[in-house]
Amino acid sequence: MPRETIKSLRRTLELERLETRRRNALFLSAIRTNDLREVGAQLYRYFYRYFGVNRGDITILADYDERDFYDRIGWTPRQEMPSISWFRDQVGKHRDYLKSLIAEQIFIGYSPESEKAIRETFFTEASMLECMITKRPRIVNNVAQELSMEEIAQARGQRTRSWMNWVVLHPENTKLLAKMHMSFSQSQQPAAKELARRLLPFEDLLRYRILHTRDFRRVKYLSERDVLTGFYLRPMLAQRWARFVEEGSLGGGAVITLGMLDLDFFKRFNDRYGHDVGDAVLKRFAQAVHSKLRGSDVFGRYGGEEFMALFPGAKAETVRSILQRIHDSIKDVDFLPASARARGELPERLCFSGGLYTLRLRPGAPLPSFDEATKAADDLLLYCKKSGRNCCAYAGSSGAIRKYRFN
Ligand code: GH3
Ligand code: MG
Ligand code: MG
Repeated sequence: MPRETIKSLRRTLELERLETRRRNALFLSAIRTNDLREVGAQLYRYFYRYFGVNRGDITILADYDERDFYDRIGWTPRQEMPSISWFRDQVGKHRDYLKSLIAEQIFIGYSPESEKAIRETFFTEASMLECMITKRPRIVNNVAQELSMEEIAQARGQRTRSWMNWVVLHPENTKLLAKMHMSFSQSQQPAAKELARRLLPFEDLLRYRILHTRDFRRVKYLSERDVLTGFYLRPMLAQRWARFVEEGSLGGGAVITLGMLDLDFFKRFNDRYGHDVGDAVLKRFAQAVHSKLRGSDVFGRYGGEEFMALFPGAKAETVRSILQRIHDSIKDVDFLPASARARGELPERLCFSGGLYTLRLRPGAPLPSFDEATKAADDLLLYCKKSGRNCCAYAGSSGAIRKYRFN
């Protein structure tokens, strides 16, 4: 082999090594941060430097809901792959939905003005949709083939000569995890194969980030909430109680009510119709409660058919009227399962009882722990259960127990 060729091969190899080292360094630094924007910024720097493009933009549509996408578009993976003209039609038909997806994107490399402009303009290019359905990258070199005359002028105004839509798939089920869009100020793009090779580490990085974030969110959700109702579990309630008491005691004069609610004669739903019906009743009750709460209220499932609510800033009388509204929203609901209704059985109504413990935070006054407050509310709940149910009980200003029957 001629000496010159060997020299040139060596140089290429050395450059390649340098490039790999630089890419790995970027990759590692991006892994250390949990921010997709940062990952994208790394990609941006590396990618455009490598290809010598002066300016380029990246948008990432991360962690989007594939099923929702198919529902909206009216196409499922069981159907045949559509034609190009079909994609164009769909872009026109689903403008608002596609625009909402664009609005969800992370924008990297744009100035605030151009980000705003992109969010507001909507190109009829079908390559985004095509990319998301075929799950294959799509490079658009000829802008004129994709856009209308008017849009071409607009794209020029944004200095876009070509672009690429890129996909990141789930490693196990090939669902689309993210779609990336990169636009370039020059029209000539490197070959798709070369792009794919260069993008691979970043594709892995994005995939890793999205799956990691998903797992984290899921574990957090499961550790904080009850699966059936979506309400907080006991440790979260205790944590919130401690925080309210702490913050309230600093301000002085604050008040907080802890309510312990228990469904009346709930066991009969399980015994008569089965546990699945019991579960449905619990869910329905949770929905009714959810719709009546104020933003600052915290609701949880204490256990079984016992719920707990924290009402910061509310005294017992205020909570009493919130509970009355919850009662109103379920009192006419028939909880009888459809099969039993078909047999002509009588309607099933649901009611609940509640013990309300109110704490007035005064300087120097003792601060009851979560367990102490719970015990106080539970005693009042027991009082309700012994005196007819479908009511709530709380201590009046004189300290004597007051009972309020829901009507
Ligand atoms: P009371 O008015 O005295 O509160 O009567 P009750 O029947 O509501 O109370 P009891 O404590 O006798 O029964 C509560 C029942 O709730 C017993 C338990 O099997 C049921 N339960 C607890 N958790 C769940 C759940 O997640 N799903 C279903 N279906 N039932 C549950
Ligand atoms: Mg009960
Ligand atoms: Mg109970």
